[in-house]
Amino acid sequence: MKLPGSIQRKSDPGASLLKRIRILMANEEGVQARLDQFVNVIASSMRINVASIYLRDGDELELCATKGLKKEAVHKTRMKLNEGLVGRVATSAKLLNLAEAPQHPDYAYRPETGEEKFHSFLGVPLLRGGRNLGVLVVQSRKARTFDENEVENLLTVATLLAEIAIEDERAGGAKSRLKGFNLSPVKPETRSANAYAGGLAKGQAFLHFPPVTAGQMIADDPTKEEARLEDAIAHMRRSVDAMVSGETASLSRASLEIFESYRMFAYDRQWVDQLREAVHTGLSAEAAVERVRNQHRARMLKARDPYLRARLHDLEDLANRMLRSLGGEDLDPGQRKLPKDAIVFARNLGPAEVLDYDHTRLKGIVLEEGAASSHATIICRTLGIPLVGQAEGILDRVETGDKVLLDGETGSIFIRPIPAVVDDFDMRFRIRSDLSKAFERQRDLKAVTKDNVDVKLLLNAGLLVDLPQIDAMGADGIGLFRTEFQFMIAEAMPRLSEQVELYAKALDASGEKPVTFRTLDLGGDKILPYADPLPEENPAIGWRAIRIGLDRPGLLRYQLRALLTAAAGKTLRLMFPMVSTVQEFIDAKAMLDKERARFERMGSLLPQKIETGVMLETPSLAWQVDAMCKHVDFVSVGANDLMQFFFASDRDNPRVAGRYDGLHPAALSMLSYIAKRCKANKVEVSICGEMAGRPLEAICLIAIGFDNLSMPVTGIGPVKSAVLALDAGKLARKLKPALSTKSDASSVRDMVADFCVTEGIPV
Ligand code: PEP
Ligand code: MG
Repeated sequence: MKLPGSIQRKSDPGASLLKRIRILMANEEGVQARLDQFVNVIASSMRINVASIYLRDGDELELCATKGLKKEAVHKTRMKLNEGLVGRVATSAKLLNLAEAPQHPDYAYRPETGEEKFHSFLGVPLLRGGRNLGVLVVQSRKARTFDENEVENLLTVATLLAEIAIEDERAGGAKSRLKGFNLSPVKPETRSANAYAGGLAKGQAFLHFPPVTAGQMIADDPTKEEARLEDAIAHMRRSVDAMVSGETASLSRASLEIFESYRMFAYDRQWVDQLREAVHTGLSAEAAVERVRNQHRARMLKARDPYLRARLHDLEDLANRMLRSLGGEDLDPGQRKLPKDAIVFARNLGPAEVLDYDHTRLKGIVLEEGAASSHATIICRTLGIPLVGQAEGILDRVETGDKVLLDGETGSIFIRPIPAVVDDFDMRFRIRSDLSKAFERQRDLKAVTKDNVDVKLLLNAGLLVDLPQIDAMGADGIGLFRTEFQFMIAEAMPRLSEQVELYAKALDASGEKPVTFRTLDLGGDKILPYADPLPEENPAIGWRAIRIGLDRPGLLRYQLRALLTAAAGKTLRLMFPMVSTVQEFIDAKAMLDKERARFERMGSLLPQKIETGVMLETPSLAWQVDAMCKHVDFVSVGANDLMQFFFASDRDNPRVAGRYDGLHPAALSMLSYIAKRCKANKVEVSICGEMAGRPLEAICLIAIGFDNLSMPVTGIGPVKSAVLALDAGKLARKLKPALSTKSDASSVRDMVADFCVTEGIPV
């Protein structure tokens, strides 16, 4: 396999620069002297007019060394982090390569530096373990873009430079402290980001990419270093082979595919040649890995194709594996070493990387990027690991070993927290763990209210890892099986046999308990990595779910075939998502009937019973519920979507998602109407979506007539506790006046919370 845009083997033009830096790093001078020498070496080796180092001091950048700009500007020129081209490099953590810098809209002229004479500009961030310590800039009089080799060399130099800066600062400035610079954050910090996977975590920070220390950069004995490199390559290959055949790969086809593509890279000749070549220039094996990684990063920044970017991300991961091997770590899958109670911080993580960590020690994840529906998020939700994402700039604020509290419910991250915050968190933690012990004790109890309403508590699931939870939580089955998850975490469209296998496993795991499969709900926020998303103004109300299924029947019919096969001889319950009119359901059901007829023609074994339902997630369907009931065996209310459409507020937009309360009297009266009409038509009704898994909401739903609730795994225990203490009739009487259309309250939440206090209902 060829690396995307890989370089040919050739003599390294950066070798002389690296040699000179090697000598420079070996000398014992103070930091300022070394920075001054750095810029001189860079300017002369690269034959350019200016080389400057800007270091970060809080929210500002300061010019700390220069060759080519006016010397008087050193330690005088300061700029805000969002100011000028240098600021742009610092905040974006991305390099900037410009032929005509003064024409760039962010260009800020600083008369004291005399830089107006220079046209071309190349700025690279000084990154260390993802933290941005400053910017290294080279400029030249001639208007030209810097070539690939120059960019790569500067990236390598920047890696070394970042280490010098931080090492000295760490050592308390023993080698002459840089004007009191404080590059490591020390103060307590609270950040709020997006909560993607719930739960609380307390532990210590662990940076996903271990930084290579300056001491490890240059090798004394190249022959020895070559041997170390070869050992690490062999070790890394063995580990990737083990991943492909190991248990983690069998968790889902997606993991297997990811690992298989890793293996292709692990055995790629050119990649390994590049590593060997870098060691020949005098770098240590660790620095060689860093250097080749930087080369690929430089290419990655240019790659537009998302597939190519994903492949390059795989290479980054392999580089990381090599560094761990060189550091003497074990590379077995699921065994990635972590300190106890680790909270992993990273720019982004793939699902394989999450699965790589030792789960008994991984307590939480914080990402600078990440998304609510990313694969890593899905895996974390199923494993019960809190994950917070879009924590912009967080890697700048944290060091490995820092104490961290993570709230996956609200998205809050407390770094180096003060004791009062720790106490408060500990209290919440204790309450949770007492509760989970209580939930365990009530695992085998039926969820029956004090006034004898029998409530079914079912799971929302979608991946193999969810299935053991049915027994572990004592759930009454799976009320919503999100079949699109299998499609979302795969690298390519799952084959028919793979779909059959997953559905059959879900049915096996559930035994006698029901499983309700929802046909593919793609589109909206659920995007397939291998399909080009259609640009749509409003994807949530665009071409999604059953609309795709009806317009392009191929995929849906294929899935129906898989479901019929998997449930041969058993009961198959399936429902269609995002139906807006009765006719859409009739058309979808006709497709199922066609498939069923095909099975009969072929003499294939059919399910012993087939129940078809509809997801009620559009307000339009709420007003057709009587007509709908004539055609369906059951109705499942998809409260997540129903609420977003009812209140016209995008569920994935944090600005508006929490703006309206699902316990608004108008919403409850609509839900109550749906439940009543279904019951009057003798059609089973249930509700799935996040609100069914929150105890306070759940008891309201029970009071208005929903006795069949499907929820995320974390909801089962708390909701069961609340159900056991509830008098549903009493709450229904309390709610009744509030649900009249005359009510002008914006929520019944406070009233119900008071009710719970008086009744002793744990919510
Ligand atoms: C819903 O909309 O409530 C639902 C359960 O489906 P999803 O969250 O997968 O859209
Ligand atoms: Mg939905």
